[in-house]
Amino acid sequence: MSKKNVIVIGSGLGGISAAISLAQEGYKVTIHEKNPQIGGKLNVLKADGYTFDLGPSILTLPHIFERLFERSGKKMADYIPIRTLRPHWRNFFEDGKVVDLDPDPAVMAAEARKVGEDPVNVEKFLKYSADLYDLVNEGYFEQGLDTSAEFREFYGLGKFLKFDLFRSMHGGVAKHLKTRHMRDIFDYFIKYVGSSALHSPAFMNCMATIQYRYDLWYVDGGLYGIALGLQRLMNELGITVHLNSEVSEVRKEHGRVTGIVANGEFHAADIVVSNMEVIPAYEKLLLEDEAFMRTLDRYEPSCSGLVLELGLDRKYPQLAHHNFFFSANQKTHFKTVFRKHQLPPDPTIYLVAASRTDPTVAPDGCDCLKILPHIPHIDDERPLTREDYMAFKDRVLEKLERMGLTDLRKHVVFEHCWTPHDIREQYNSNKGSIYGVVSDRFKNLAFKAPKQSVKYPNLFFVGGSVNPGGGMPMVVLCGQNVAKKVVEWDR
Ligand SMILES: Cc1cc2nc3c(=O)[nH]c(=O)nc-3n(C[C@H](O)[C@H](O)[C@H](O)COP(=O)(O)OP(=O)(O)OC[C@H]3O[C@@H](n4cnc5c(N)ncnc54)[C@H](O)[C@@H]3O)c2cc1C
Repeated sequence: MSKKNVIVIGSGLGGISAAISLAQEGYKVTIHEKNPQIGGKLNVLKADGYTFDLGPSILTLPHIFERLFERSGKKMADYIPIRTLRPHWRNFFEDGKVVDLDPDPAVMAAEARKVGEDPVNVEKFLKYSADLYDLVNEGYFEQGLDTSAEFREFYGLGKFLKFDLFRSMHGGVAKHLKTRHMRDIFDYFIKYVGSSALHSPAFMNCMATIQYRYDLWYVDGGLYGIALGLQRLMNELGITVHLNSEVSEVRKEHGRVTGIVANGEFHAADIVVSNMEVIPAYEKLLLEDEAFMRTLDRYEPSCSGLVLELGLDRKYPQLAHHNFFFSANQKTHFKTVFRKHQLPPDPTIYLVAASRTDPTVAPDGCDCLKILPHIPHIDDERPLTREDYMAFKDRVLEKLERMGLTDLRKHVVFEHCWTPHDIREQYNSNKGSIYGVVSDRFKNLAFKAPKQSVKYPNLFFVGGSVNPGGGMPMVVLCGQNVAKKVVEWDR
């Protein structure tokens, strides 16, 4: 077994997954995390009897997490108890229509009919999505492909053409679904990666299958339970975690990295894995020059979000656990956020009411809400002020009141709100991005940066800024694939 020394910068889910996978391969692994707790964006806020997921609230593809436990001969269920949710999402429209998403074909057919969509169209769309998922999964996800050369070799021309390359994600949706309601809903699966359905490639339609085939999951007590379960596994594997340990430099010599500096102290390493995003890491830890930084321009950050937590003194029974309140014009929403980089006048809003199915997260008779409209990442040349964001917050709350959450603002007894600046500050994310790199067919064809540094062969990256990108299961998969890359390179 190797006893080489690996330092992981950051304990987001990507960093944790890489650390576990490398420890399972026999490496001696140490994590340095700037914050006082592990988990990165998988974060929790407890106050006044309410528990909020500050970051992710939807768990998908749990079998990817399960592998971390299986490889140590353990069962995830003994560490992280999870359960499915019904409906998956509830969708509210400005015209008063309400549609649930449910994996049961008979229930889904009835929901489609409510807005005049022929259920056969939904079935055909889901078949199209499943075919794309199988294609993307066999190579891009499971083999951890990073470059166009690796793509050509794995897929060959025949399979490459099946990626539906000449359409946008919205184009793929609109080809199958005829009603605006159903189009808006399936377009908004792009929320999982913080991008725009108008501007991302059609193969992103694989995401519906992630929910419809593999279900949608919750962790009782809140999703931070995932971090707690992984913490136990890391302890059992002997991984050392230094909290409050911000890395300020990655040292390099003769084309290789030699270690890191944290809290003013140098720590030598044979291999460094950065869970800090690629662009801030190259810029701030490796001090690369402008010419090199320009080669990374195509890895534009995903959107950011206004992350608003509200503790209420009442319940809104019409809410499901997961809810979406749609923009009256979602195309304008996408164009405003992803092309004009402005706060949208009428955003699509994601709202989680975990108290609907989990009585432990709010006092009796009360709801706890997390509200997340997607908004542009920070533009440092034209930064918005906190007042701009607070005016936007009021528009969001007005919209929710108009769409049925009557007098919402009168029932708020606890409030917490993060802007993109808070998100950047907390996690060192690039321009406050919440999912890493944007998936955009014109800018990067949804490719993120490669997992192995193009400059320093013993430096690797993990997380939402490298392939296959953001979202909890994807960064966990990324950690496993990074470990494979390290082992292959180190043989
Ligand atoms: C509000 C919100 C809602 C979301 N909803 C969902 C959802 O429902 N489902 C889903 O699957 N995904 C969701 N996501 C996305 C998901 O949370 C992320 O894709 C994923 O958790 C990111 O993991 P990561 O490993 O890439 O990085 P991060 O979680 O960003 O971790 C990076 C870590 O590195 C640390 N770090 C950075 N720089 C340094 C340094 N110099 N020194 C030491 N430590 C450093 C940071 O503190 C952080 O802990 C959501 C994200 C947010 C913010």
